Amino acid sequence: MRFPLFPSLRTGGSQRCERCGLRFPTSKEQCNHCSKLSDTEVESLRRRVEREHAGHAELGRVFLILAAVVMALVMLLVLR
Ligand SMILES: [Zn+2]
Repeated sequence: MRFPLFPSLRTGGSQRCERCGLRFPTSKEQCNHCSKLSDTEVESLRRRVEREHAGHAELGRVFLILAAVVMALVMLLVLR
């Protein structure tokens, strides 16, 4: 008897790798991202992924500010 450690609800047969934090298909025995990497390489991979996530968050903020600026300009033009 074995219980699934990671019950996949909507992931469609992918699981999160404990080592590098990326997702890989459950059909694979090992993570296809880090199984061939050494510990230091996995560490730099994790850092890169974290940076990319931070970059996306930053991009989202920039878009919000741009949208606010455009809205303000439109308001100024309309209310004049
Ligand atoms: Zn991995």
